[in-house]
Amino acid sequence: MVKAAEIFAKARRENRKSLLEPEAKTVCIEYGIPVTSFKVAKTEKDAVEYAKGIGYPVVLKIVSPDIIHKSDVGGVIVNLKSAEEVQNAYAQILKNVKKHEPKAKITGVLVQEMAPSSTEVIIGAVKDPQFGQALMFGLGGIFVEVLKDVTFRIAPITDDEAHEMITEVKAYPLLKGYRNTPPADIDAIIKILLSTSNLVTEHEEIKELDLNPVMVYKKGAKTVDARIILE
Ligand code: ADP
Ligand code: MG
Repeated sequence: MVKAAEIFAKARRENRKSLLEPEAKTVCIEYGIPVTSFKVAKTEKDAVEYAKGIGYPVVLKIVSPDIIHKSDVGGVIVNLKSAEEVQNAYAQILKNVKKHEPKAKITGVLVQEMAPSSTEVIIGAVKDPQFGQALMFGLGGIFVEVLKDVTFRIAPITDDEAHEMITEVKAYPLLKGYRNTPPADIDAIIKILLSTSNLVTEHEEIKELDLNPVMVYKKGAKTVDARIILE
């Protein structure tokens, strides 16, 4: 397997500060962070073959060093259920990207497992010039973006600190289950926080890391999108 250090070195050689999603997810896998299974297709035919291997439904996403926010340029199409839908989505994504970012270099199209929707959390890290790596936790969507309901700890964190981070956000009761939503697997979130802590502690060159969103289930969790920015 390609190691995190090699991925960072390759990005630097290519003058990139931002890792591509498949690169960021490969780094996550090395540290035991669960991610949706994926493969990078270079042709429509590849995409169909990979989708079959991964199993339907799948998601297709643009992979480009020039595109950070993929859905803003029509670069993400979810819930594809057949070879025909994958073929159409492949062509559609390239068309959308060409329209929005005509100069963008295209590395390929990411074919990935579709994670069933569930409670979404965000796990992140930012490097503070004074305190070093700070870990962030919050619930997805409006909780982080509108209400700024997030919590921080300086890495490395302990098991207890990971647990505190989760229980101290205001939205915590939502993780314990409500109406038709079953309780979320808190231990799975703790594990991801600890793994993220290890990752940023061992790689000081990480300036920013974003697992957004992470779907949390009754049992287990899965990172749907990962971003890593180097210094
Ligand atoms: P970006 O943040 O660059 O626009 P994302 O990879 O986060 O792109 O995709 C946008 C949205 O599409 C996600 O927030 C999520 O709601 C949905 N999505 C992306 N990948 C998956 C997946 N594998 N399974 C389920 N939903 C997904
Ligand atoms: Mg995202």
